[in-house]
Amino acid sequence: MENLGLYIHIPFCKRKCLYCDFPSYCSMENYMIDYARALCIEMENKCKGKKFSTIFIGGGTPSYLSMEAWKILKETLCKINKYEDCEFTVECNPGSFDRDKLEIIRSAGANRISIGLQACQDELLESLGRIHNFSGFLKGFEMARDIGFENINIDLMFAIPKQSFNQWKETLETVNILKPEHISCYSLIVEEGTPFYKMNEEGKLVLPEEEVEVKMYNFTVEFLKKNGYKQYEISNFSKENKECKHNLIYWSMDEYIGCGASAHSYFNGIRNKNEDNVKRYIEKILSGLDASIEKHKNCKEENMEEFMFLGLRKTDGIRISDFKNRYNINIFDIYGSVIRKYESLGLIKIQSDKIFLTEEAVHISNSIMSDFIL
Ligand code: SF4
Repeated sequence: MENLGLYIHIPFCKRKCLYCDFPSYCSMENYMIDYARALCIEMENKCKGKKFSTIFIGGGTPSYLSMEAWKILKETLCKINKYEDCEFTVECNPGSFDRDKLEIIRSAGANRISIGLQACQDELLESLGRIHNFSGFLKGFEMARDIGFENINIDLMFAIPKQSFNQWKETLETVNILKPEHISCYSLIVEEGTPFYKMNEEGKLVLPEEEVEVKMYNFTVEFLKKNGYKQYEISNFSKENKECKHNLIYWSMDEYIGCGASAHSYFNGIRNKNEDNVKRYIEKILSGLDASIEKHKNCKEENMEEFMFLGLRKTDGIRISDFKNRYNINIFDIYGSVIRKYESLGLIKIQSDKIFLTEEAVHISNSIMSDFIL
């Protein structure tokens, strides 16, 4: 079976979180129905003749899409050709779904949900601009279990302004009690163009010291390992066999088709990006046009670079034989000196067919990966 993923972007949110630079918008609810219709047309065109091993509906907040829009989407989603064990994830935010919404999401074929929690302390959630509190999350989580979702991810965030180490520890301990199958832990990045960026420029954002952030990350890795979660990527942890197959497609440079405003695809060696503007996306698709605004055919060097810096995010790293099969060249002819350099520093390990970063390398992974640019 070849891995092929389908990503569907839902660009609507009830309110914009203060740190968010994702392509998502509030006060655009009037477009939901037309957007769902446009998505169906794009999916029917792009998915014809293909069989998918993963589907991921992300955003934005897919669970904020109205019931009417979900009914429209569901018809097309049910017709998509999927492998029997297809992993089908929908991102859900507490405060944007009820039982009916979760039920329609499940009946559309979803077998995995990803819930954005970020932190367990209400004051931190509020300071992030999240629309929910912890008890709202808990209700949503229990509802999802009750409906039958046996594969749930919880998204967490550390290095939040004013967050203490103990608050982060408490968040991990609380979430661990719920036993989700998967936990993602990303550190907050202050992105340009966000309200947090402006606050930071004005000196109004109290971010944890770098050493506290490192301590939080190290604790995360150790704590989750002790509690039966395998770290399989820099920021992602899962129970046995519950790794997110869809994200592994990205990190393994396998192919995926993207539908919706701002969605990216990588298919037949071509990277493709869709129109960002939601209105223009709808107009283009409804008038029979292609919504893509950027197409780029990767050259061999770009493919090799991406294979390395995406692959090295995984704790399993990359396979020497996979590199050879894809690019018809020995990896050491291209990257021998970089690999040997980091191996001698104890930051890269070579183990039979595998090359991967050591635990010590994770904190400086970005600078290591940039050395793989040709
Ligand atoms: S819910 Fe997610 S996508 Fe929406 S604004 Fe917040 S972080 Fe961004």
